[in-house]
Amino acid sequence: MLPDKADVVIVGGGVMGVSTAYHLAKRGCSDVLLLERNEFFGEESTGRCAGGIRYQFSNEIDIRLSLHSIPMLERFPQELEQEIDLRHCGYLFLLSTDEEMELFKQNVALQRRLGVDTEWLSPEEVAKRAPLVDITGIVAGTFYRRDGLADPSSVVQGYVKGASLLGATLLTNTEVTGIEVRAGRVCGVETSHGKVKTAVVVGAAGPWAAVVGAMAGVEIPVQPVRRQIVVTTPVPGLSHDFPMVIDFAQSLYFHREGKGVLTGMSNANEPPGFDQRVDREWEVCHLEAAVARMPILEEVAVLNRWAGLYAVSPDALAILGKVPQPEGFYCINGFSGHGFMHGPICGLLVAEEILDGEAHTVDISSLRITRFAQERKAIEYAVV
Ligand SMILES: Cc1cc2nc3c(=O)[nH]c(=O)nc-3n(C[C@H](O)[C@H](O)[C@H](O)COP(=O)(O)OP(=O)(O)OC[C@H]3O[C@@H](n4cnc5c(N)ncnc54)[C@H](O)[C@@H]3O)c2cc1C
Repeated sequence: MLPDKADVVIVGGGVMGVSTAYHLAKRGCSDVLLLERNEFFGEESTGRCAGGIRYQFSNEIDIRLSLHSIPMLERFPQELEQEIDLRHCGYLFLLSTDEEMELFKQNVALQRRLGVDTEWLSPEEVAKRAPLVDITGIVAGTFYRRDGLADPSSVVQGYVKGASLLGATLLTNTEVTGIEVRAGRVCGVETSHGKVKTAVVVGAAGPWAAVVGAMAGVEIPVQPVRRQIVVTTPVPGLSHDFPMVIDFAQSLYFHREGKGVLTGMSNANEPPGFDQRVDREWEVCHLEAAVARMPILEEVAVLNRWAGLYAVSPDALAILGKVPQPEGFYCINGFSGHGFMHGPICGLLVAEEILDGEAHTVDISSLRITRFAQERKAIEYAVV
C-alpha cells in the first residue's frame, strides 16, 4: 500500500536505491519509501551486470570508494544474513601498447600509495596466471588478488530484506511519474498509484537518472549505453581460481561463471539509447575477439546472452549527493559500468548526506554534480 507521506522517497530499486534505503534505516531513519517500477527489485543494470569488484582504478576517488565498499561486501553475510558468493579471484588486466603500459604504471603507483598492492606482471607471468588465455601481443599485465566477483542479485536481496526488517517500505510495480517542487524545495512525488508528500527525494534510477532528474528540474548528465554479455557452456580445463581477465585495449573481459565463462566486450560505437535487445551483429564481433584471446571457447556453445545499460557520466565518475537546486533532491548516479561494487558505500554516503548534512566516511567533493559547471580535472580511464 502506498503511504501518503514519507521522510525520504527513493526512486529506483537497483543496488543504489536499496543500499540507500538500508543505510538510512540502519541509522534510525526508517520512514523511507523506495519505489521501483518493475515487478522485481534489481532487474535492470544491477541484475544484468558482470558482478566484478576491483580496487584497480586510475582515479583516487574510485579506489577510495572500493577501499570502503569491498570490505562492506565481505561483511555482508554476517551483517545481513545473506550469502553473496564473494570470490577473491583477482582482476588480471592485459596490456598491449606502450601507452597502456605508461597509464597502468601510473595507476599501479597510485594504487600502491593507497595501500592496494597491485602486482606488475611480465607476459610470461600473465600466461601462468591464466593459461587458457592466448597472450599474443600482450606486453605486460597487472593483477590484484583482492579484486574479484560477487553476486549482484543476492546483494539486492540482502539490502531489501535488511531495510524492510528495519522498518523501511520498499514497493515494486510503482513508477514515479513526477516530482513536485515548490519555492525551490522538493515537496512530493507523483506515482502510478497516487501522490506521496516528502521533503527528500533520492534519484537512484540508474540509466534513467536524467529522466528522473528532469522531473525535479535537475539536469543530470548521464546517458544510457547498451552493453552485452554472453555466458558459455562448461569450458574444459577452466580452473576454480580463473581471474577476471580484462583485455584493456579491446574492452574485452572474461570470468568464470559456473563451469563456463561469462564474457563481455564494449562496443565503442554504441550510440546512447534505452534499447536492451541483444545486437547479434556486435555479438559476432565480440565472440570472434573472445575466441582469438581464449581459443578454448571455440569448443563450447553459448548458454545465455543478454544486454543491459551502463549509466555513463561525462568523466566516467559517479554523481553523488545533494544538488544546488531544488533543496531536498539527492543524486546517486552515473556509475559508468562500475557501480555494482560501489553500491554499499555510496548508499551509506547518500544516507550521511541526508542525515548529517554532508557525507563524511569518504570526501565526495570531487563527485558532486557542481563539478560539471567547473573546469573538469579528473577522469576515470580504467573503464571497461
Ligand atoms: C553488462 C553490464 C556489466 C556490468 N558489469 C559491472 C561489473 O562487473 N561491476 C560493477 O561494479 N558494475 C558493473 N556494471 C554496472 C552496474 O550494473 C551499475 O553501475 C549498477 O548496477 C547501477 O545500479 P543502479 O541502482 O544505479 O541502477 P539500476 O540497477 O539500473 O537500478 C535503477 C532502477 O530504477 C528503476 N527506475 C527507473 N526509473 C524509475 C521510475 N521513474 N520510477 C521507479 N523506478 C524507476 C529501474 O527500473 C531500475 O530498477 C555493469 C553494467 C552492465 C549493463
